[in-house]
Amino acid sequence: MEQDPMQIPICQSCGMPMEVAEDFGTDLDGRKNKEYCQYCWQNGEFTAKMELPEFIETQVKIATEKLGMLEDEARLVAETTLPELKRWQKQ
Ligand SMILES: [Zn+2]
Repeated sequence: MEQDPMQIPICQSCGMPMEVAEDFGTDLDGRKNKEYCQYCWQNGEFTAKMELPEFIETQVKIATEKLGMLEDEARLVAETTLPELKRWQKQ
């Protein structure tokens, strides 16, 4: 099966690309959830129940500490991409 990079789904909570089965979160019935990654979605619920501003802080922390991004850069990415994702869309 050919992989189109544009077709790689991203987590609708944190924006992480989900390329392999292990990247996907799990629903209550143990099936893979197609919208959220394993870090955000486990057993049918969000692993971290927080509002967007708090989630942005968490993501910035991960990006700077684990990925070595500059804080300004990480914050800009988080603030521009996260509000676009399904989880953070206002109903
Ligand atoms: Zn995620």
